[in-house]
Amino acid sequence: MQSEQSRPELFNRFVDTFTEASHPEFMAMSGGEALLRPALVKNLALKARASGTKSSVLSGLFFARKPGIPKSIKSAIDAVDHFSVSMDAFHEREVPRSNVFTVLNQLLDEGKHLSLHIAGEREDDPYLDDLVNLVQKRFGKRIPMLVNTLSPFGRAKTFFIQTASPSTTTVEASPCTMAAWPVVGFDGVVAACGNDNLIGRVPSHLRLGDIRIHSWADIRSRCVDNAMQIALRTYGPEYLQTKFGSQGKTGCKGYCDTCINLDAQDAIQVGVSSQMLKPGARILGDSVVDLQLELGAVGFAKRYSHPRFAELVLLGA
Ligand code: SF4
Repeated sequence: MQSEQSRPELFNRFVDTFTEASHPEFMAMSGGEALLRPALVKNLALKARASGTKSSVLSGLFFARKPGIPKSIKSAIDAVDHFSVSMDAFHEREVPRSNVFTVLNQLLDEGKHLSLHIAGEREDDPYLDDLVNLVQKRFGKRIPMLVNTLSPFGRAKTFFIQTASPSTTTVEASPCTMAAWPVVGFDGVVAACGNDNLIGRVPSHLRLGDIRIHSWADIRSRCVDNAMQIALRTYGPEYLQTKFGSQGKTGCKGYCDTCINLDAQDAIQVGVSSQMLKPGARILGDSVVDLQLELGAVGFAKRYSHPRFAELVLLGA
């Protein structure tokens, strides 16, 4: 309850810069626990809709320990286009599964579009099959599910040790699809992606702006046109480090950690800028995006969540 919390005006001001001509297709609100600020969630969702942006909110359903959905929270859920619920062993220690199912049932009956974000400790965690099977038994095919496993990120980085992947002898291009997903932090700084390790310390090459001063149009144009963002979406960070970094492949310290540390090297900024000025660079970048779009939602889920459960993202309406 002592976490950072910015004033609502900060977020309202930014959503007020969405226009019918220029707005994000989708605005996802998460926390922490976004529904601790239900009036803000409702307000932002309604403002966003006025310009054509759909919205969603992700919650751990802290309020479901008691029967019924509190009025202010229900009003926020009603205001968004999509409602997502986090379920994992840790949430279930606080909020019983049966209470979560009661809320899901009520919202489905009202016609709400829902999804579940499910996390297990590891790929073969029996919790995952148990919960996925139970959700399908109870709700049929009505709820899409995104299933993931724990990784050490953000404020929870030290809670969990992950074995490093073996290093490869050659580094091939591995485009980062996430570098197309502007994320507003609690402090108003907009990062190029949702990597939680960036919260509160976004390096300059991944910083798209600040919602105190920038509009959605500013953020969008930086995301779309900035050479480093295009290069990350086309080649991925390890390829850029190997090709342009002063330390070459030895500077690769894991996919995202390599990306975060690209900032410290002037050679990379210069190399990336001149590479992306070449005539074929934009065409190559666009082709990479087209290939990823062809793979669709399941292709995306196979890469960024538990691949065995990837098809579950297509359930629901
Ligand atoms: S590679 Fe960079 S842009 Fe992509 S998710 Fe990791 S930190 Fe973000």
